[in-house]
Amino acid sequence: MTGPRPVRAPRGTELSAQGWQQEAALRMLQNNLDPEVAEHPDKLVVYGGTGKAARDWNSFDAMVRTLRGLKQDETMLVQSGRPVGVMQTHEWAPRVLIANSNLVGDWATWEEFRRLEALGLTMYGQMTAGSWIYIGTQGILQGTYETFAAVAEKHFGGTLAGTVTLTAGLGGMGGAQPLAVTMNGGVVLCVDCDPRAIDRRIEHRYLDVKADSLDHALHLATEARDARRPLSIGVLGNAADLVPQLLSMGAPIDIVTDQTSAHDPLAYLPTGVDFADMAAYAAEKPAEFTQRARESMARHVEAMVGFQDAGAEVFDYGNSIRGEARLAGYDRAFAFPGFVPAYIRPLFCEGRGPFRWAALSGDPADIAATDRAILDLFPENESLARWIRLAGERVHFQGLPARICWLGYGERDRAGERFNEMVADGTLKAPIVIGRDHLDCGSVASPYRETEAMLDGSDAIADWPLLNAMVNVASGASWVSIHHGGGVGIGRSLHAGQVTVADGTPLAAEKIRRVLTNDPGMGVIRHVDAGYDRADEVAADRGVRVPMREG
Ligand code: NAD
Repeated sequence: MTGPRPVRAPRGTELSAQGWQQEAALRMLQNNLDPEVAEHPDKLVVYGGTGKAARDWNSFDAMVRTLRGLKQDETMLVQSGRPVGVMQTHEWAPRVLIANSNLVGDWATWEEFRRLEALGLTMYGQMTAGSWIYIGTQGILQGTYETFAAVAEKHFGGTLAGTVTLTAGLGGMGGAQPLAVTMNGGVVLCVDCDPRAIDRRIEHRYLDVKADSLDHALHLATEARDARRPLSIGVLGNAADLVPQLLSMGAPIDIVTDQTSAHDPLAYLPTGVDFADMAAYAAEKPAEFTQRARESMARHVEAMVGFQDAGAEVFDYGNSIRGEARLAGYDRAFAFPGFVPAYIRPLFCEGRGPFRWAALSGDPADIAATDRAILDLFPENESLARWIRLAGERVHFQGLPARICWLGYGERDRAGERFNEMVADGTLKAPIVIGRDHLDCGSVASPYRETEAMLDGSDAIADWPLLNAMVNVASGASWVSIHHGGGVGIGRSLHAGQVTVADGTPLAAEKIRRVLTNDPGMGVIRHVDAGYDRADEVAADRGVRVPMREG
C-alpha cells in the first residue's frame, strides 16, 4: 500500500516516458495533484467537492509506472481512476483512454454511486479532475469572466461598474467569481462558510478583502459601488442564512448567483451545523445530512428568487442548486434560468468554448509567448485581447503555467498549429498541452446546465458527448475521456474531454489540425441539429458539413 505524499510535475525537456505524448499525460496527472492546484491533494481530490485524479494511491502509482513504460503504439485504459489495461493500438491512437464515474441509467443515483465508491469500484471524476487537464482556478476564471461580461452586456451597458453582485462558494471553481466580477468593473459579496477558502483566495489575489460582519461587508460594498470602484469582499457564514438575511435587510443587490458545492448535498453546509462538524456529520449520518442540506438549499434558493422578484438579475451557475431545492419541495426553484441558456448558448453556436493550454517547460515565459501569439492571430477580437492582457497581469499560476481563452470553430486549430510551430522552431522551450473543459459547445449533455432548454427539447440526449469522444479518438487526440456527473452530479450529465499535445512534430501538426477542427465542429453541428439559426450560419460560412442540410 502506498499513501499520500506531495506530487509535482517535473519541468523542462528531460523525458521520463517514451515520448512527449505519454510524458504530457504523466505530467498533467501529476500537475492535477500539485498542492498548488488540487483542493485536497492528500485525498487525490482536485476540485468540485470530490473530483479525483486517481482512484487511490496504488492506482496513481500504477498509472505513473505504466505511462513511463508506454510505447508509441500502446494505449493505457483507465476505468474510474484505475489503470485496467494496456492495449496495442497505433501512433494516431490516443495514448490514454479514460472512462470515469459512468453508471447505467437506472443505477445512476448518488446512493448507488457512493455504495460502489465505498467498495472501491469507482471514483468521481468531475470534468477535468479525472481527465488531467485542470489548471487551477484560472480555468474557470475565463468562463466566469465571459459570463459576467455577458451579464454586463445584456443588462448593464457593457460594464459591471456601479453594481453589486451577491454570490457564495469560494472553492476551486467558485473562487474565480470575485476576480471575474472585478475584472468587469463590479463589486461583489462572496459568502463562504470555510475561513480557509476566503484566506486562500485573498492569498492568490482573486479576492480583495475579508469583512468582519455582514454590516461591514455591506458598508464596504455600497461605498465602492458609489465610487464605481471594483471591489471583492469575502464574508464568513452560511449562505442559507446570509442570503435570506440580506434579502430581508433590503440589501441593494443587482446580480445574484451561487457556486457552493450544491451538486453534492454532502458538500453543502446545512444551517445550524458548525463548519467544523460538517465532515464528521456528513460521514456519520449521510441521509440526515442530505435532507438538512436540501432544506437549507431550498431556503437559499427561495431568497435568490426573492431577489429576482425585487428586480435583480439572478442565474444558476451550474451547481444544481435549483434541482436540490426542488427536491426539498420548493416549487419556484426554477424561476431563474441557468447561465448557459441565459448567456453562453450563442457562443456555443459558433463552436466557441474553453480552449486551454499548459507549458510543459514550467517556464512562465512560454505562456507569455503564447499569449503574444494569440494576440497576433486574432487582432480583431477586442474582448479576447482584454482578457489575455488582464490575465497576464492578474492571474497567479497554479502548478504548470497555463492559459485559457474562449476560441471558436476555425480559431482553435489555428492557435494549436501556431503553438506547434513555436515548439518546432524553438520559440518555446518544451511542448504545449492543449485541452479544454468538458463544459464545451459539443461535448456535454446536461439538462440542468449546458443543454438546459435546448430549442428542440433535446436536453437529455446523451449521444452527442459520446460522438464527441469518438470523433476525438478518430482524429488523433493524445488522451480522451468520457465522464458522468461532472459539475451537476450523478444522474445529471454525460460529458467528454480531449487533450492533444503540440510536441513540434509534423505528426502533431496533422493531429492538431483535425482534433481542433472536429472537436469544436461538434458544437456547431449539435446546435445546427437543435435548430439554432446562428449555428446554421456558422456551418454555412465556415464549411462545416451537415448532411441533413445538403442535397
Ligand atoms: P468546492 O467544493 O471546491 O467549493 C465549494 C465551496 O462552497 C467551499 O468553499 C465550501 O466551504 C462552500 N460552501 C458549502 N456549503 C456552503 C454554505 N451552505 N454556505 C456557504 N458556503 C458553503 O467546489 P467548486 O469546485 O468551487 O465548485 C462549486 C460548484 O460549482 C460545484 O457544484 C461544481 O460542480 C459547480 N461547477 C460549476 C461550473 C460552471 O461552469 N459554472 C464549473 C465547475 C463546477
